[in-house]
Amino acid sequence: QTPLPKRPRTPSSPSVGKTSGDALVDPLNPDQREAVYHRNGPLLVIAGPGTGKTLTLTHRIAHLTRSKDAAAEQMLALTFTRKAAAEMADRLSALLNAAQSPLVQTVTFHRLCLDILRQKGNRIGLPVDFILCSEIDARDLATDLFLKSGGDKGRLSDFLRRLPALKAQLVLNDLSQTPGPELLQVCREYQRALRDAAMLDMDDLEIEAHRLLREHPDVATHFGKRFQYIFVDEYQDTNPNQVALLKCLVEGGNGEICAIGDADQAIYGFRGADVTHFREFEKDFPGAKRIVLTRNYRSTPAILKGSAALMGKKRALTTDRTDRSPIAIAHLKTVSEEAEMVVAHIERLMGGISHFSFDTGRVEAPQTDLCLGFGDIGILYRLNAQGNALEKALKRRGIPYARSGETPLITRHPADIIWRFFQTLRYPGNPYYEAAYRRLIPVAPDDLSLPGEYEINSPVSDLLEHAIAYHNLIPESEEETRILARLRDLADRCDHNIALFLDALSLERGIDHTLLEGDRVALMSLHAAKGLEWEVTFITGCEDRLLPCSLFDGHDESEERRLFYVGMTRARSRLILSHVDRRAIKGPLRQMNKSPFLDRIPSQLCRPLDRGDWQAKPRAHEQLTLF
Ligand code: ATP
Ligand code: MG
Repeated sequence: QTPLPKRPRTPSSPSVGKTSGDALVDPLNPDQREAVYHRNGPLLVIAGPGTGKTLTLTHRIAHLTRSKDAAAEQMLALTFTRKAAAEMADRLSALLNAAQSPLVQTVTFHRLCLDILRQKGNRIGLPVDFILCSEIDARDLATDLFLKSGGDKGRLSDFLRRLPALKAQLVLNDLSQTPGPELLQVCREYQRALRDAAMLDMDDLEIEAHRLLREHPDVATHFGKRFQYIFVDEYQDTNPNQVALLKCLVEGGNGEICAIGDADQAIYGFRGADVTHFREFEKDFPGAKRIVLTRNYRSTPAILKGSAALMGKKRALTTDRTDRSPIAIAHLKTVSEEAEMVVAHIERLMGGISHFSFDTGRVEAPQTDLCLGFGDIGILYRLNAQGNALEKALKRRGIPYARSGETPLITRHPADIIWRFFQTLRYPGNPYYEAAYRRLIPVAPDDLSLPGEYEINSPVSDLLEHAIAYHNLIPESEEETRILARLRDLADRCDHNIALFLDALSLERGIDHTLLEGDRVALMSLHAAKGLEWEVTFITGCEDRLLPCSLFDGHDESEERRLFYVGMTRARSRLILSHVDRRAIKGPLRQMNKSPFLDRIPSQLCRPLDRGDWQAKPRAHEQLTLF
C-alpha cells in the first residue's frame, strides 16, 4: 500500500485560510472565491462532498466581517448539530481575531428558536419561563400516551417517527394530508400534556418560533434586523418549518441569506426534511445566485469514482490527488471478526502494536513515516447498536476512542442525576421531573430543597458543587471525569441562571452527544458523520437489510443510498468497507448478504483488504444482538 500523506496533526482546523496580517491568505479556487465575495442578494452554493462548502461559508463570514461592511454580531450561522456548530466556530476563530469570532452566532436551529421564544414567546401566549422538554422525555411521554390510547406496540416506532410532521400539521392548522384520526388524537393529547406542564419539545421550538414570526411581523423585523446575514450549512436537510422561519427572518429584516448544501447528501427525509426546498431556493429567495463547486479537496480518485458510481453519476468530482490506493473490501464471517479486523487494521496503520503503551492506551512514538493519529480514524455504521462490538474490541486493545451515539449526555451518569436534581428544584410543580429524579435516587428525602446557604438563584457553579457533594458523585472513569468537567464549564458560563444551565443540557440531542476532544478514534452512525472527514474511514455492516436498512416502516431506498454516499465520502485517503456472513438483527442470527450498494462500485476500484498475517482466533464468537 502507498504510504499516507503527511498532514499536520490539527484535525479540527482547516488546512487553509489562516489569517496573516489583515488579509486572508487566499488559497481558494475561482468558484470558491466567487462564493466568498459575491454581494447583493441571496446565494446558494451547491456542490458535492469535500468541495469546501463549509470552508467557503466560514471564509464568507470572515470576509464580510473583516471588510467592515458588516459587524460580527449581525451574522448567524446555522448548522444541523452542535458538533457542526462547534467545528464552524473553531474554523472561524482561525480566521477572525479573538474579539470578533465569538460574536458570530454559530448555533443549531433549535438553539436559535429557543432564544427567540425565550425573548418574545409571550407574544403568542407562551409562559415566560416555559420548560424545554428534552428529546428523551418527549419520547417517553409520547410512548406512554400512544400505548395508553391502545396503540399497537409494533406501530410505536412508526408513530414516533411521524410525530414531528403530525405536530407541525396540527399547530399550523394544515390538515391537508390527514394522517388518520387515531394518530391525530394521540398527537393532540401529547400536545395537551406538554402544554399542561408548560413544556415545549424540540419540534415545538421550531414550530412555535415560526408561528411567532409569522403572526407578528414586528418580531420578525426585530430578529431579522438583528441577524442581517444568515448562513445555513447542509441546507438539503432543512424541513419546511425551518425554511419558513428563514423566510420570515430574511424578509422581516431585509437581510441576506447564503445557503450551502448537496442534494445527494440529503439524509433526513424520514424526519420531514425536504430537498424540494433546496431546489426551490430561488423561488423562496428571489434574485438568488447559484454557484456550483466541482473540485474536491478531500478524497482520493478511487473514493471519488466509487462514490460517483454508487450514485449513478457519469462523472466524478475532480481532484489533484494522485494516490492510487483502492477501496478496501473486508469480508468476514462474524460480527466479532469484523471488530477484530477493525482494531487489527488500526494497529497496523498506527505502526504496529509495539508502539502501544498499555498503561495509557496511547502510541508512544510512532516510528513509521505515516503521520496518523487516532483522531484521523473514523468507524461508521448504520445502527447505533452496531457500535457495541466495535467499542468492546477497541477497549480491549487499549485504543482510545470516542463514541457519539443516540444517548445524549443527560442520560449518562453523573450528568443524569445532576440534571434531574436541578429540574426538580427549578420546576417544582412539574408532574414528571420529581418522579424521574426519584427513579434515579430512591433514597432522597421527601422534602427536596437546597440547604440554607443556597437559593435557586445562587451561582450555578456553587449549586453544581453542592449537587456533586450532596450525591457524593466521585468520578469512577475517565468518561465520568470528562462529563463533570463539561458540567463545570457550562455552569461557569451560566452565571446565576440555572434555567440557562438546564436549557443547554435539555437541548442536547443524541446525535450531538460527543466527547470527541483529544486524539481518539471516532465511532458513530452514518447520520452523525455528516460534514466530518477522516484520513481513514471504515464503514462496517455493508450488508443487505442494514445498508439499505429495511428494518423500519416506510424506509426509503434512495435515502439509504445517499446515506452510504455520505459515509464513503468522509474518507480522505483510505476507505474500508466491511460485511459479514452472519449477524443477529432484531432477534436470531441470520445469514447476511453483501449490500447491493457494494455491487454498484466498479470492481477495478476495489481490492480485498490486505490483512497481513492476521488469522481468526479459534474461540467461540459471541454474537451481538441489535435489538
Ligand atoms: P461536506 O459536503 O462533506 O460537508 P464540504 O463541501 O463542506 O464537505 P469542507 O469540509 O469545507 O467540504 O472541505 C473539505 C476539505 O477540503 C477540508 O479538509 C478543507 O480544508 C479542504 N479544502 C477546501 N477547500 C480547499 C482549498 N481551496 N484548498 C485546499 N484545501 C481545501
Ligand atoms: Mg460541509
